[in-house]
Amino acid sequence: QEPPRHLRPHVRRRRFRHPRHPHSPARTPGGTPPMTHIVVLGSTNMDLVAYVGRAPELGETVTGREFRTIPGGKGANQAVAAARAGAEVSMIGAVGSDEFGARLRAGLTAAGVDTDLLRTVDGPSGTAHIVVDDEGGNAIVVIPGANGSVTSLAPGDETLIATGSALLLQLELPLSAVTAGAEAARRHGVRTILTPAPAQPLPPALLAATDLLVPNEHEAAALTGHADPRAAADALLRQVPEVVITLGGAGSLYAARGADPVTVPAPRVRAVDTTAAGDTFVGALAVALGEGTPVPDALAWASSAAALSVQRPGATSSMPYRTEIDTA
Ligand code: ADP
Repeated sequence: QEPPRHLRPHVRRRRFRHPRHPHSPARTPGGTPPMTHIVVLGSTNMDLVAYVGRAPELGETVTGREFRTIPGGKGANQAVAAARAGAEVSMIGAVGSDEFGARLRAGLTAAGVDTDLLRTVDGPSGTAHIVVDDEGGNAIVVIPGANGSVTSLAPGDETLIATGSALLLQLELPLSAVTAGAEAARRHGVRTILTPAPAQPLPPALLAATDLLVPNEHEAAALTGHADPRAAADALLRQVPEVVITLGGAGSLYAARGADPVTVPAPRVRAVDTTAAGDTFVGALAVALGEGTPVPDALAWASSAAALSVQRPGATSSMPYRTEIDTA
């Protein structure tokens, strides 16, 4: 019997199909390794952003200033970050059959991300309804839409995951799929990097298949009950072998079993918009690790990438290209 289409040689062809972004030649800090392949199993959302002077109370109507639709979702954001950082990237997940779905897919393709296994399902795409006030405060409603349909792996997903140097996971898809993805990666010796956002209790099976957990300090506190990052890292190391806790402008804390934790400072920059800083950091970190960069250097490189992103407005639009990170 013929294997399903997804299991046939397209995985191998994919490696050479995407022209590199003109601004991101494959160079690492110190060599010319081949492009690493990163697979992302995660969400795609259209962010529907209303900019207002003051957010409305329940039952109230206010007139806002501006409306924007911005492609987002933590999965898609990490995919774009990794592609700009110089990896070949494939995205697994789902968009809806609406206009947003077509735009989300086209945006990923334009960023050089392979979307062959990004399914289109009947119904709406994931949306995030965001109100941003003049103080920069925000209120967000996320409706999973198509993301909610990804409850398990589909034919071809595991074959694709097996070709990656890392599988990037977040918690905006049903936990059953996230866990199945991590377990599939584990079966093939592919490094699993989990961003536990939005914060929620993690199933033991998912933790057991996680190599590197990358919470921000709030997520680390929510997961462990420890506000102190070192105490949180200690607690998390009982469940996963490696942890990076991102600390905003204070940098990040790296901890691994059997080694002293290391603090990696963030470059001092003037931050104008920290949206997707964490996703930029994770995407770049995965690329550097996939290219065999030692952990301390990989963390410094990811910090440079994230610091570049916070100096510019936007989510994916603020993410730096390889040459910018290398010369930062
Ligand atoms: P998240 O975006 O998930 O909330 P953080 O706010 O911890 O995560 O930011 C992730 C990373 O982005 C940090 O570890 C740091 O490297 C970088 N970063 C965030 N804010 C700043 C800042 N003000 N200056 C420099 N780097 C920053």
